[in-house]
Amino acid sequence: MPLYEFYCDKCAKEVSVTMTISERGKGQATCPQCGSRELRALMGTFFTQTSKKS
Ligand SMILES: [Zn+2]
Repeated sequence: MPLYEFYCDKCAKEVSVTMTISERGKGQATCPQCGSRELRALMGTFFTQTSKKS
């Protein structure tokens, strides 16, 4: 499953969430640290990590 980076407002830090693409599309991301659903997606993190292999 893809790994997504989010920013949790409650933890006040970035968290990594593993979820399926369908779950991601439904916006069902929950913080693995505190269980909050108030996560903000960090755009493009997953793709930039895979493309910066120089
Ligand atoms: Zn949290």
